[in-house]
Amino acid sequence: MSNIQKFQTNKYHGQVLKVAIPTPLRRLFDYLPADEDIDENHSKQSKLKPGIRVLVSFGRRSVVGVLVAIATGSALEQRQLKKITQILDESPLFPSPLLKTLLWSAAYYQHPIGEVLSTALPSNLRSGDPLNETFHWWKIAKSVSAEAMSALTCAPKQNALYRLLASNDKENTKTTIEVIKKAGFTKPLLNELTKKGFAEEIIETTASAEAFAAIDPVAFNKISLNKEQSTAVEAINKKRGSYSSFLLDGVTGSGKTEVYMRVMQEQLARGKQCLVMVPEIGLTPQTIARFEERFPCPVVALHSGLNNKERLRAWRAAKEGRAGIVIGTRSAIFTPLAKPGLIVIDEEHDPSFKQQEGFRYSARDLAAVRGREEKLLIILGTATPSLESLYNVRTKKYQHLKLNQRAGSSKPAKMELVDVADGNLDNGFSSQLLFRIGKHLQEGNQVLVFINRRGFAPILNCQACGWISECENCIAQLTVHAKPPSMRCHHCGIVKLLPKYCPHCKSTNLATLGMGTQKIESFLSKKYSQHKVIRIDRDSTRSKKRLSQLLDEVQKGDPCILLGTQMLAKGHHFPNITLVAIVDADAGLFSADFRGQEQMAQTIVQVAGRSGRADREGEVLIQSRHSNHSTLQRLTQKSYGEFTEALFKEREQTFMPPFAHLCLIRAEGKEFKTPLAFLQQVAALTEQLCKQHKFSIELLGPLPAPMEKRAGRFRLQLLLKSGKRTDLQNLLSILAPLMETVKVTSSIRWSIDIDPSELI
Ligand code: ADP
Ligand code: ZN
Ligand code: ZN
Repeated sequence: MSNIQKFQTNKYHGQVLKVAIPTPLRRLFDYLPADEDIDENHSKQSKLKPGIRVLVSFGRRSVVGVLVAIATGSALEQRQLKKITQILDESPLFPSPLLKTLLWSAAYYQHPIGEVLSTALPSNLRSGDPLNETFHWWKIAKSVSAEAMSALTCAPKQNALYRLLASNDKENTKTTIEVIKKAGFTKPLLNELTKKGFAEEIIETTASAEAFAAIDPVAFNKISLNKEQSTAVEAINKKRGSYSSFLLDGVTGSGKTEVYMRVMQEQLARGKQCLVMVPEIGLTPQTIARFEERFPCPVVALHSGLNNKERLRAWRAAKEGRAGIVIGTRSAIFTPLAKPGLIVIDEEHDPSFKQQEGFRYSARDLAAVRGREEKLLIILGTATPSLESLYNVRTKKYQHLKLNQRAGSSKPAKMELVDVADGNLDNGFSSQLLFRIGKHLQEGNQVLVFINRRGFAPILNCQACGWISECENCIAQLTVHAKPPSMRCHHCGIVKLLPKYCPHCKSTNLATLGMGTQKIESFLSKKYSQHKVIRIDRDSTRSKKRLSQLLDEVQKGDPCILLGTQMLAKGHHFPNITLVAIVDADAGLFSADFRGQEQMAQTIVQVAGRSGRADREGEVLIQSRHSNHSTLQRLTQKSYGEFTEALFKEREQTFMPPFAHLCLIRAEGKEFKTPLAFLQQVAALTEQLCKQHKFSIELLGPLPAPMEKRAGRFRLQLLLKSGKRTDLQNLLSILAPLMETVKVTSSIRWSIDIDPSELI
């Protein structure tokens, strides 16, 4: 017998459990079932079902894994295989179609399956807690000897606690730790009593309640739909019970939410659950309130503001079918639903649906994958569709539904460009803009001043030698903050004191360049001193409560200036705003990122949509040094639709998404040469594999990232581009495991980003 054959005969041939374990390795791990769980016939009664959690020993640790498949035979020998330690669930946490979607996404995004499944679980379940909540109470032990009883009388405190338990037992009251503490006893005392055998702890798991009751389908039609809305609702409802994706492309205020609700109503009436995805946690309270007001079924929210226990409860309510409506941010896309019917992605163009680190998935794109697997209706709603979604309309993957009219009585705002090429500005504002702000305030209206913060923060500049404050860890400028006076790096977080003189030439002639929200706030407050300036940005709204206080202040309706960044562009409803002022539209026009223009246009249109939503007509003023730029001209004179048509042509010519598919491989390290050496090896492997398998893939790099250094680490990237998604996928499925084995001299971090949302 040859050596090879001998090796094969030693391989294990029995039942093997394929387990996903949260490690950076892109593979499953083989384990053996415990003796009592061996079930060679794969019978229905088996406790071993894909989708349950198992406790296994991995290296020297004990870890929680997910059983993904049960197979026969392993590449390992029996002596190399360990038995699983424990089965943690009675039934799968992920229903089989959702598990399939998760496996698909691990393969598609080239991310280790163990980490993918772990991301999809609430953190309590990740660490091995039981799915069901447990309820602990104590009662007196059944048989206590007379001798022991007499010993107890010598310990008066223990004796008192014993009598409390006894009397509660007699009245059939369950004595919980809260009851015990309230009566003045302590946990150590209870432990003592339990240890001595006088009391016993009872652990009950809470039973799941029933699924939500289907609602009455017509009782909630309070508003009568307009023609466009009812056409949309009918088109969507016609496809119920099967997979279908719709792009609901409706101008701000056109009543998209009303369309969602009509479709939801139809689903809820059939006992089906609805998952609504929103971009920001700040938007959830408003959305929840709107749904709760309308529908009599339980609504649960899943977002980053919940503590672990709350999150697990909400997750279970979704999984067990008790929640009719589940609202959540990005990661909610992985929530198991007992009876799913519909997924809504509100503001589908929003970049926050793409995870930017770790498992870099797009919740929007996965909605369609999940929808196909679970036969769901998918609605992607927005006033500014992404080019990807419009492309999916062109290729007939999505059905295009348009709402061109604002619902109710409000009219669309007029957009106007203000050219500031002559540079005659007062703190960034032209005299025309200042005049109009004053006018709207005088007429008793509210004004929204929007700052596109990207690349527009104030920096410290020496007027004598031109020195600019820069971060020592990153290739980036430090931002000047007024409160408290300091300079901060927005990339690595470093905080510095403001220097009194230039570190380069010692001149004291230092000034801030550029504008930030704080600087503008103090300027506007002085300029319009009779009116309040309410600043809303990341810094002013660190707490959730603060944001809602500020928003309440605006809702009161007194004339005021609302000053803010991107946060204001999302979904909020401000009926008294009649003027929206976009102070600088230029940052996005010349962005280093290929999505810069698209995102700038989306922001402008979304911010503009905040104006004139009630009975008062709105105005939008856009300041730019390049008011003749075709993008700004199209947006203001024509429409977002015309703008995207032009952008499509540009992307086609430059062979960029959605015409090409991208994969960005990033690497970073303390020295420039290490990530470079790594990516050079990856590039060489890629070229070799492309030749061998005839993959048609374009390779760009390795090149330094646009932000070459961040937090003391050098960042480089390699861009792969292809017209054929399958070529890219096939390449990566071979390349990614090979990358795990590439050796470099010192430690680096690397990642694979499929369909990257930015190339930075
Ligand atoms: P969108 O989500 O498209 O921005 P909303 O759904 O928030 O728009 O609707 C904007 C406003 O118009 C809301 O106050 C809503 O109640 C109202 N509205 C929606 N549809 C109608 C309708 N058919 N008739 C009257 N008002 C409507
Ligand atoms: Zn920095
Ligand atoms: Zn200087």
